[in-house]
Amino acid sequence: KSRVVIIGAGIVGTNLADELVSRGWTNITVVEQGPLSIPGGSTSHAPGLVFQTSPSKTMSLFARYTVSKLLSLEEDGQACFNQVGGLEVATTPARLEELKRKLGYASSWGIEARLVSADECLKLYPLLNRNLVLGGLHIPSDGLALAARAVQLLITRTRKAGVCYLGSTPVTSIQQGGGRVTGVVTPNGTIPADIVISCAGFWGVEVGAMVGLPIPLLPLAHQYVKTTAVPALAGRNNSPNGASLPILRHQDQDLYYREHGDQYGIGYYGHRPMPIVASSLGVTKDVDEKHMPSRLDFTSKDFDPAWKISRELLPALQKSEIADGFNGIFSFTPDGGPLLGPSPALDGFYVAEAVWVTHSAGVARAMAEVLTTGRSSIDLSECELSRFEDVQLSPAYVSETSQQNFTEVYDIIHPLEPRESPRNLRVSPFYTRQRELGAFFLETGAWERPHWYKANAKLLKDLPPRWRPVERDAWSARYYSPIVAVEAWKTRTAVAMYDTTPIRRIEVSGPGAVDLLQRLSTGDVSKEPGTITFALLLNDHAGIRSDVIIARLEEDLFQIGANSFVDVVYLTQEALRQGQHTPSRWAQVRDITSGTCSIGLWGPRARDVVNSVSTDDFTNKGLPYFHAKRAKIAGIPVTLLRMSYVGELGWDIHTSADHGQRLWDALWQAGQPQGVIAAGRSAFNALRLEKGFRSWGVDMTTEHDPHEAGVAFAIQAGKQGYVGQATFERRSKQTPVRRLRCLTIKDGRSVVLGKEPVYFDGRAVGYITNAAFGYTIGKPIAYAWLPSRVVEGDTVEIEYFGRRIQASVTPEPVYDPQMSRLHG
Ligand code: FAD
Repeated sequence: KSRVVIIGAGIVGTNLADELVSRGWTNITVVEQGPLSIPGGSTSHAPGLVFQTSPSKTMSLFARYTVSKLLSLEEDGQACFNQVGGLEVATTPARLEELKRKLGYASSWGIEARLVSADECLKLYPLLNRNLVLGGLHIPSDGLALAARAVQLLITRTRKAGVCYLGSTPVTSIQQGGGRVTGVVTPNGTIPADIVISCAGFWGVEVGAMVGLPIPLLPLAHQYVKTTAVPALAGRNNSPNGASLPILRHQDQDLYYREHGDQYGIGYYGHRPMPIVASSLGVTKDVDEKHMPSRLDFTSKDFDPAWKISRELLPALQKSEIADGFNGIFSFTPDGGPLLGPSPALDGFYVAEAVWVTHSAGVARAMAEVLTTGRSSIDLSECELSRFEDVQLSPAYVSETSQQNFTEVYDIIHPLEPRESPRNLRVSPFYTRQRELGAFFLETGAWERPHWYKANAKLLKDLPPRWRPVERDAWSARYYSPIVAVEAWKTRTAVAMYDTTPIRRIEVSGPGAVDLLQRLSTGDVSKEPGTITFALLLNDHAGIRSDVIIARLEEDLFQIGANSFVDVVYLTQEALRQGQHTPSRWAQVRDITSGTCSIGLWGPRARDVVNSVSTDDFTNKGLPYFHAKRAKIAGIPVTLLRMSYVGELGWDIHTSADHGQRLWDALWQAGQPQGVIAAGRSAFNALRLEKGFRSWGVDMTTEHDPHEAGVAFAIQAGKQGYVGQATFERRSKQTPVRRLRCLTIKDGRSVVLGKEPVYFDGRAVGYITNAAFGYTIGKPIAYAWLPSRVVEGDTVEIEYFGRRIQASVTPEPVYDPQMSRLHG
């Protein structure tokens, strides 16, 4: 049985011990630098507000589980959760709209919620200033986590099951051997371990450094105060921490509120970011409620605006003062998500950090599932520790972006809204040309990606009526331009150049490359060199961990189009294991994205373009669909993959970065007679959706199997011995309970953005994954997860800003189901 060491006895570490115990693991030691009765981390002073709803399904599900677990965790008849409900108020029209979207998220993720009028807000919360409040969102199942108490109950419960707790014991280094963790070192000796999970909260950076692992989190101080007794609360609640009013958020002013008996607790995010270096804090020996490393002195000036605003929102506060305040420390990350999962470089070392109390039990359950079964039942892609690019791990990047996240934590953020800084971290070799063409850039994975080009605006006047874009509402019109319609039209009727450089490219080579890819993917990659295979990477439970395009360029050389860095880590680790097991079957995995670049040249006239600058054979015979070959274009050595993400004739043309700009220029010039344009991601996404191509991480994740997601065609019939085979075959005999469905919007105009709830027979039964205007078919398209009983031809309703939009469940793909365009 694995010997497990958990570092940190905060709400995450203790929940993890508990989740592991409940799965039958008992050889567990929890090592905590502070005293166990009050360890002194963020949990020891957390006021414990749990607002469950967020745009992220994963985070909302983590929160839902945390609530149910804390409700069940009780002693002497008192649970560790006070379910007073949550009320978020709007004091601006923009926030009122945001609350409508938030109601949508709640419905999508199965959390009961209700928009309430200003009068109803007053009924729920009589202390509010009626003159300020425009309305609110009420979530009855939200409430207050008694986090410090939960930690103590979890310690007691897991101790009984055999978990060993070592308090006042700092881990000072991690022992390793043969690429694995072997133990943790403390002043009292070394504790042997096969698995070490760092749940060190905002000390994560320091613990990561012990194994050379950069942890992209920044500890920041956040102000919290308690008031003197508020006369209006007298006699309402038990002291010191009783509460009966809903927890309250005033996000327009970065504030939240709870009761502590007859006092108020107020938290504030409106102050300047105050970054901390955890190692500078030292360890407090005599920890008590007011003295602990995670609690810094209150800087009262920073709180002045909050106090003024609070007395306006809650006039009852005018009769009280601030009794006590502190600057409490917790973790922020570059994208606001937690950091979960294995170290990419050291076997047996895991991290579960930057986790709020709100998500703690859900995170712990997911980690326990990963450790005991190899996968979490909830998609972890947006939480993976290894989701960041190298450039995003630099301390300066982490610091700037995490501070920005602190500042924006309650802001209204559009799903496409890019960060303003730092930008231009990664650009493709075509960047200069893209700027010349007036590219509108958004950023993903630190890449600058053109979404459309202003240069194409001049073609708007030529747009045939049937292609003309519809008017959009203000929200869906943000980060959008009607120029996208031109780019879609030109791609379908002439030819367009798409910068596909940011799509990850991985090279797998060596005598074991075929074995590796045969085992990890669902496709048959043993076909002759020059073939391309679309395949899935499944986990043992047949969940989709990625979808990949595998081009066999030579006998022992493959190029893979993949999704995230997590794919690189997976392939690398599996290659390493294979090499250790059978040295003659070694394989090397290289992420070649940065050193290479690629242009998707797609459209019915694509062939005319390449024929004019190359003597190679690009006919259907010379390079058939889903085949690859090396060639020269204008003398530039390239690799062409005959495939298209947008469903048209053409190639993804790859070359090394140094040749990039010349390749762009050559195709651009050669394409002029054919009316070539540069086209961006917005058109790409719309055309991709028309063709029914799924986007991993959005349409499908590890939560879904290939049947449900409509990608079972990517499993090579009769294939044996691939990861996930047994479960996939068992599932093949069952009827899926849910399916990814294509919807078209009946009114032909209403564009939704994704994550909206879908109603059938009056009940929310699913949610939108991806949506776009389908320029070719002249109406919006959306994909949605729906129960299997909802079938093609049915009408469903999408809720968007409280409005119900009718949509038809439509056979897919809506464009070129015969694939005649792709086959050219
Ligand atoms: P911690 O509780 O910090 O636990 C980590 C533990 O690891 C610590 O006890 C530490 O001593 C130990 N440790 C670290 N390094 C070592 C080492 N080398 N060896 C041994 N032990 C080590 N969240 C909410 O959900 N709702 C809220 O309302 C809320 N309000 C907050 C208000 C304030 C003022 C603050 C500061 C935070 C708030 N948070 C809230 C955030 C929340 O408190 C934290 O995100 C959460 O408690 C983190 O839990 P944890 O177990 O990861 O970390």
